[in-house]
Amino acid sequence: MNYRHAYHAGNFADVMKHALLARILAHLLKKPAAFRVIDTHAGIGIYDLAGEEASKTGEWCSGVGAMDAPFSPDVETVLEPWRQAVAALRADRGPSAYPGSPAIVRSMLRAQDRAILVEKHPQDHATLAAEFRHAANVKVVHLDGWAALGGFIPPKERRGLVLIDPPFEEQGEFARCAARFAQALRRWPTGIVALWYPVKHEREVAAFAEAVSSAVTARTLRLELHVAPADGTRLAGSGLLVANPPFTLAQDAGRLLPALVKRFGGAGFVCEDLVPERA
Ligand code: SAM
Repeated sequence: MNYRHAYHAGNFADVMKHALLARILAHLLKKPAAFRVIDTHAGIGIYDLAGEEASKTGEWCSGVGAMDAPFSPDVETVLEPWRQAVAALRADRGPSAYPGSPAIVRSMLRAQDRAILVEKHPQDHATLAAEFRHAANVKVVHLDGWAALGGFIPPKERRGLVLIDPPFEEQGEFARCAARFAQALRRWPTGIVALWYPVKHEREVAAFAEAVSSAVTARTLRLELHVAPADGTRLAGSGLLVANPPFTLAQDAGRLLPALVKRFGGAGFVCEDLVPERA
């Protein structure tokens, strides 16, 4: 396990993923019934963009570092839950603090909601566990995230979200993701399942999309933000599949993604039903 998210926190991919994550949670908050969040690859939860790792790559500068200027009001509406999570953390920890998925989730849970945060890296798990040791309704688990998919899904709640955000450092990760995404939906057909993936090679992503669409029957959105041509030389884009999406998410993403493309000087976006709603 070589991947450490601290080098990449707050980059363009994080901004896209976290803004949509916060939007999904805001949707879950619209009903009083309890929900559960299971974050299978949680990271350390809170990042210091002035710290050694983030400063070494400077990736955040072209991500969250480019987000200060306001967008048009309709885009700001979409961004509002994420902006609130960022602002709350900065007010508490200072201007260089950046919330990862666990901190965004924690900031949006109510008394009746629960979260399980899973991290396999021993050091990152220890950091996450220390950070969240007093967090109400949040359980931090030192486990393989893929095993957690089997162990913690389905939860007792009917509503909620599974976030699958692996580092893609192993061979065959796309094939595994397609299979586990479908498996999570079979185990929890009423849950929202979101899976992040890197866009590096066009062909690789097309094969992944094909594998998911033939394994999944639930409505699934394919959302991508492209910052460069996907020629295999670098991280050219950020993708998020969302199964059982909130009914407003496609419209939200349709506003957000083109605005981020413009802001980040990107190359384009995808916002489509990979698997449409069954009649
Ligand atoms: N979800 C986090 C966020 O948005 O703030 C970022 C997660 S980062 C992309 C991926 C994390 O998965 C890393 O912290 C890595 O240590 C962890 N990881 C790698 N393999 C894992 C596994 N098999 N099970 C659980 N965690 C794993």
